[in-house]
Amino acid sequence: MIPVNEALDLLFDLVHPVGIEEVPLSDASGRVLAQDLIAKRTQPPFAASAMDGYAVSGGAPALGARFRLVGESAAGHGWAGRLVAGECVRIFTGAPVPEGADFVVIQEDTTRISSEVTIARAPGAEANIRPAGADFHQGHQFSSPRRLRPADIALLAAMNHARLPVRRRPSVALISTGDELVMPGEAPGPDQIIASNTFGLKAMLKAEGCRARILPIARDTDAAIAQAFDLAQSADLIVTIGGASVGDHDLVAGVAAQEGAMQSFHKVAMRPGKPLMGGRLGGAMMIGLPGNPVSAMVCGHVFVLPVVRAMMGLPATPAPRLRAQLGRAVKANGPREHYMRAVVENGAIADCEDQDSALLSVLSQANALMVRPVGDEARAAGDWVEYIAI
Ligand code: AMP
Ligand code: MG
Repeated sequence: MIPVNEALDLLFDLVHPVGIEEVPLSDASGRVLAQDLIAKRTQPPFAASAMDGYAVSGGAPALGARFRLVGESAAGHGWAGRLVAGECVRIFTGAPVPEGADFVVIQEDTTRISSEVTIARAPGAEANIRPAGADFHQGHQFSSPRRLRPADIALLAAMNHARLPVRRRPSVALISTGDELVMPGEAPGPDQIIASNTFGLKAMLKAEGCRARILPIARDTDAAIAQAFDLAQSADLIVTIGGASVGDHDLVAGVAAQEGAMQSFHKVAMRPGKPLMGGRLGGAMMIGLPGNPVSAMVCGHVFVLPVVRAMMGLPATPAPRLRAQLGRAVKANGPREHYMRAVVENGAIADCEDQDSALLSVLSQANALMVRPVGDEARAAGDWVEYIAI
């Protein structure tokens, strides 16, 4: 058995990053930016008013000061003249501040009769002017790799990028193995159950930005599993589920080897999810997950998501961990890293009652995997622990 972090590093060694494609800005949210980008312009390109009011020269005017109104500067329509002492220009938010002006008196601090503007309340020290380049200057670098958030999309739009270089969505083929499995919606025979793992994993991968494909269920024969591998050939990543243990009907490793897979490991010191396989098969990376539904989903969070992030050019790092205080005590942990289904609420974390790795109902209630290190001692309520948000 190898530790979880070692298994993950071995998986990272098998990653081949996917290629780059260009997408329109409006399709780029959630995608991973693949190349650094440079601001094509300065924003704002001119000193701009931050308020509606009157632009004046000579700094903050005194209470009672009077100005002659000589023009108007609106957003998109600046005033072309040069302002001198004693003059003011009506100005609106986002409009260019006229040459010679260095202060905008907000309109609430003024009274106006015809073309004479009087300062009716002492303006504060704030000039209400956004200097040119206050947001960014031309040439400013926006660094990759980075998963693009809505705010990033807005910023890159302002930098005048209409199309963005992003990583291609990794294509993932999901293979269920087992004579006992039928697809959701079908009528299972007396000894059969519904295949659930592929659907949970597909949802997980889709949310991460992958294109995931569920292949027909492979029966527990070498030929059926080999056929599934053939169908999966064009994928960037093949994920098999089940058949990964050492039982008589656990055939995945053997068939993968026959098909020429380079296999990198098999057993990981974790709960749930001990049998795990990593390798490469043709042009694809392959991960073999355990069949128990909770194990498969936990391994999805702990191994598959970090792997697809690395495929998309993001740093090869474990699933991000947060910290919370135990709402109740937990027992000492054994020799395998334990990912306990848990609920985090109002900053406190509590493990779920039943930690059986077959219980999807428990996983569905949980919003966290509490990580118990190998050999961790018993912990009391109030102790800090790490968890992965799920
Ligand atoms: P295995 O690793 O094939 O021995 O499977 C371990 C357990 O997980 C068995 O109870 C299987 O019935 C179950 N299992 C395997 N694959 C799936 C699947 N795709 N969906 C739901 N349960 C599964
Ligand atoms: Mg099986």
